[in-house]
Amino acid sequence: MSATLLHGGAIVDPVAGTTAPGDVLIRDGMIAALGPEAAAAAGDADLIDVSGCRVAPGFIDIHTHVFDRPGAASSRLPADRVGVRQGVACLVDAGSAGAATIDEFPTAVHATQRTPAFALVNVGSPGVRDTDGGHSSRPELVSLEATVRAVERHRGWVRGIKVQASHSHTGEYGLTAVAVARQAADRTGLPLMMHIGNGPPALEDALAHLRAGDIVTHAFHGKPGGALTAGGAPLPALVDAVARGVIVDIGHGRSSFAFATAERALAAGLPVHTISTDIHRGNVDGPVVSLARTMTKLMLLGLSVEEAVRAVTVTAARALRLDGDGFGTLAVGRPAHVTVFRVSEEQCTLEDAEGERRVAECSIVPVAAYVAGERFAVEAPI
Ligand SMILES: [Zn+2]
Repeated sequence: MSATLLHGGAIVDPVAGTTAPGDVLIRDGMIAALGPEAAAAAGDADLIDVSGCRVAPGFIDIHTHVFDRPGAASSRLPADRVGVRQGVACLVDAGSAGAATIDEFPTAVHATQRTPAFALVNVGSPGVRDTDGGHSSRPELVSLEATVRAVERHRGWVRGIKVQASHSHTGEYGLTAVAVARQAADRTGLPLMMHIGNGPPALEDALAHLRAGDIVTHAFHGKPGGALTAGGAPLPALVDAVARGVIVDIGHGRSSFAFATAERALAAGLPVHTISTDIHRGNVDGPVVSLARTMTKLMLLGLSVEEAVRAVTVTAARALRLDGDGFGTLAVGRPAHVTVFRVSEEQCTLEDAEGERRVAECSIVPVAAYVAGERFAVEAPI
């Protein structure tokens, strides 16, 4: 029997939005005790000093590209590089694979990486092309039946449908792929994540296909035709989508997060429900770098630490039904998926996808991730 006591830190409760001193006892991969009882119940547990740190449910990044196939020239990253090595306990690959390629996901990712990885099936059968661009959502590549069958083959780790609704991925074909993705989501009972960017299609038309529980990613990109009208007000169609329960996701990426857009959107009352990176080889060295840095950017715009943690834990878990796998919250009797992090008060310069730089007064610095109680120290730049 193995046991570890995370001692001397402060526990972040993303549901309550609070942080309070407390220990965490992990035994046999599960949370055995939290708070004042933990030290008393620790017995001969290994003691890990986490004083000065915060202990949170394991961070989840719901928009990544980690379908890294050995031998294939690829923009994708190994999951652990942006997962446990950066303090992230769970990743969702957002449509790197479609019906024609997703059968390779277990051998390429699950068999070689330690970070728990889930996937969204791209309605374009090749998935996102290995290099950026490429019209993965062209009609001849989109198949409702093949997408539904791909989900049915991999129900255990496929948690949604992905569609790219922007000109760079659909060319002149507009909403055809979105309509097929809508049907695939309905047939499989899974949420739909929709990438937005340059039109066509117009954002209003694309958003009309989303229902409660669906996700709009790249929500605060800086291109024309996004979350704000030309006059800078929130797009009414997006306000309506939020009101009916559509989830607003960051999906930073190389060209899909602008401080100016996000700042105006937040000031106008639009929410950030989930924070994700859209991380791949083309942005991991900047401007994205990590989930932690993306969280820090949203904190710079006014989110509290607890709000940023909520966006990568309980909200992310519920959005893609990862809570049933033990992700999203810390509770006695549940798997010990944990992120330990510091809030650094050193100034740091942050760059958005438009090249705008701002200076943050504090930042999230992960120290370690625990996956079912197994510790992974942070080793990659954050
Ligand atoms: Zn992406």
